[in-house]
Amino acid sequence: MGNIQKFINLRRCMKNQWLKTSQLEKLQFKMLKSILNHSYKNIPLYHQKFKEAGLYPADIKSLEDMKKIPITTKQDIKDHYPQETIARGVDTTKCWKPHTSGSTGKPLTMVYCSRDEDYQKAIALRPNLACGQKIRDKWAVITASYQAKPKKWFQKLRIFAPEYISLFDEVNQQISFLEKFNPKILDGYATSIFLLAKKLQDQDHPKINPKIIFVTAEMLMENMRKTIESTFQQKIYDQFGCVELGRTAWECPEHSGYHMDMDSVFMEFIKNGEEVSPGERGEIIYTGLYNYTMPLIRYSIGDVAIPSDEKCNCGRGLKLMESVEGRKDSFIQTPSGKIYSPIIWTIILRPFSQINQFKVTQEKIDHITIEIAKTKDFTDETLTAVKERIDQYLGQEDVHFEFVLVDEISRKGNKKLKSVESKLKIKLN
Ligand SMILES: [Zn+2]
Repeated sequence: MGNIQKFINLRRCMKNQWLKTSQLEKLQFKMLKSILNHSYKNIPLYHQKFKEAGLYPADIKSLEDMKKIPITTKQDIKDHYPQETIARGVDTTKCWKPHTSGSTGKPLTMVYCSRDEDYQKAIALRPNLACGQKIRDKWAVITASYQAKPKKWFQKLRIFAPEYISLFDEVNQQISFLEKFNPKILDGYATSIFLLAKKLQDQDHPKINPKIIFVTAEMLMENMRKTIESTFQQKIYDQFGCVELGRTAWECPEHSGYHMDMDSVFMEFIKNGEEVSPGERGEIIYTGLYNYTMPLIRYSIGDVAIPSDEKCNCGRGLKLMESVEGRKDSFIQTPSGKIYSPIIWTIILRPFSQINQFKVTQEKIDHITIEIAKTKDFTDETLTAVKERIDQYLGQEDVHFEFVLVDEISRKGNKKLKSVESKLKIKLN
């Protein structure tokens, strides 16, 4: 697709945010109907689910009717991937295929054709522009080096072109790069920007002065937000989402909650099968509105949030959710003194489709146990490859890694799985 079309997408997204909520709901329902019809016809998994529920797409006459459609779990998608989850007739060799992880550590592959990928990138840029980023601003993004190409298409035009910094670099190395680059926009995983802020506080370093800070991909704990904001003397903007659907909600300059991207996703908040009231905690159920290659219909991801009926002072019609209750994974500190963000484990283990789930536990400062829930394809070679990959990232650390292979990671009660836990007391603030 040409660049003109990409700008049309972006312009449309920028316009949509100012529509009235009722207009956005209308647009949302129109997009929803279209993807339901498509999924019923072209995606065997959803055809089967509709059939089992005795439903036709025509039975969905309002947003409220959506709850008639059965939930789809991550396991459903994994069990039926790729034949029954990808639209008939798509040549997937030309598609973008980001690996997902999610908080339970179960990896899964998504597939986007270029048209849908372009739309996602436009949606992804919207909050950045809404919060004041300009097209040629110097923009540093802390990321895993091989991470899915975020917002890449504009780079060819030399605008919205971020400089990437590896999550795995030493904090001091990140700092010296940032001092030279002097970004106006600092963007990245909440935990890694937090570690950066901590280091800068210790060193009383005034040379990095971003004007806008975006954090993403992880639960932003209140102490982390305070440390980052006091270090840089700037408010930060938190963005919420998942790899399966991209970014789905974000803070605007009013900071009065997270605006949901109603023109890219339909979000329900469910407890015991029923929609919760505004102000109540519910499990998020997503229906993606633009990925026609691999649609996600009433997809349960395990994240919990609180829908809100408040209107934001900014005047955007995009509805708000109040706050997000995410995972509370631990940082790990090694004998060298280096502190690792919990996100690194996801990044290290994500490429292995033979791993269903993982749980990392730091028992002692020099002893880390990695429990792996394996699929039937997990072999001795896989384990060797996992060890090599850990060695590649953490080989310099004087730590013994113990591997435990299981069929399923036990979770106490029905709680959301904590993927990374340290039994040490690590002083972060
Ligand atoms: Zn707002």
